[in-house]
Amino acid sequence: MSRLATTAPRVARIETIRLASQPQLVWVEVTDDEGRVGLGETYYNPGAVEAVIHEMAAPLLLGRPASAIEATWQTLFACANFSGFAGAELRAFSALDIALWDLLGQRTGLSIGTLLGGRVRDRIRVYTTCVDAGDHADQEAFLTRPGELAEELLAEGVSGMKVWPWDRFAPQIEADVATGPAGWSAMGPVGHDLTPAQLAEGLDVVRAIRDRVGDRIDVMIEGHARWDLNAALRICRSLEPYEVAWVEDIVQPDSPADLARLVRETRVPQAVSERLMSRHPFRQVLEAGAAHVAMVDVVWTGGLTEARKIADLADLYHLPLAPHDCTGPIALAASLQLAAHATNAKVMETVRGFVRGWYRDVVTDPIEVLDGWAAIPDRPGLGTRLAADLRARPGTTVRASA
Ligand SMILES: [Mg+2]
Repeated sequence: MSRLATTAPRVARIETIRLASQPQLVWVEVTDDEGRVGLGETYYNPGAVEAVIHEMAAPLLLGRPASAIEATWQTLFACANFSGFAGAELRAFSALDIALWDLLGQRTGLSIGTLLGGRVRDRIRVYTTCVDAGDHADQEAFLTRPGELAEELLAEGVSGMKVWPWDRFAPQIEADVATGPAGWSAMGPVGHDLTPAQLAEGLDVVRAIRDRVGDRIDVMIEGHARWDLNAALRICRSLEPYEVAWVEDIVQPDSPADLARLVRETRVPQAVSERLMSRHPFRQVLEAGAAHVAMVDVVWTGGLTEARKIADLADLYHLPLAPHDCTGPIALAASLQLAAHATNAKVMETVRGFVRGWYRDVVTDPIEVLDGWAAIPDRPGLGTRLAADLRARPGTTVRASA
């Protein structure tokens, strides 16, 4: 570990906070020895993340200069990269990294976008990912009345919608796993048998959107890694006449060579991928010419420290960045701070049922989407805090290292 001579504030306390109503989410608050607090977040298997934070990271961070963000990232990564870091370790590091950036913002009074090198925009276009959430049954709608849904979104000013018309034909997981209280994101094994009728039925969703609203809305196709390469190629080829914005994770993005076949053998742009952990697999995908859009998840891939490097890497390949959020309000807030600075940030994922729904209940200053654009806060750090009463809510658990 590097030992920097500094009188700057040091990390004094690290807390993880979990809310019963969001069982896959975990927040982390890092407090410095002058009492300022930085907020981070990650999503999925939070008990394992919590263990990494308190048992592995806290002993390394406590007493360390809170502003030594890059050095902290390198230290944490070096402690985990011998054994496959891309699991709970990297999610924990992501949450801590975002908290340290927020803390630096609290200390300096500057937004993270400013701290990254200055804001190049103060708002970004959003698209909506059509899940059922809050008051919006958008998944049901895209499957049963896709044209109507497209019109409804356009009327709100939203100019992009993400749908997954072929998931339903892939093998399904047992219902109690997918819908159990923990809400595991299991979707079932990879499909090898997509019939011509199923291919056509999925395509009907996209055709109905184009028939109803023409090319006024961007259509993003989510694949959730449900298909083998043969089915993926057929799906992509069938989409060619419809000028979709991109296809995303139609195969599991673990092979740059296989993704490059999708690029070579079809005309559909490929978005790759929220499932790539750290900048290293992004390098391989970009070198292989296997992507058109870099999809990055700041709460999974290594926090803002890593995501900004991925943004730069994609920019070097003349490709845009499209941050992922289908998980939590700090993932969205942190992505927007990255988008404030990254010149190649193109469009931001949102779920309108989350943005208008539970995100508003858990933070002080929720992100506002107006006419299809998200305003990027220029307040200190992330520009938002956890709601004041959150810790007192029934079922909330807090674990502290100090
Ligand atoms: Mg996705």
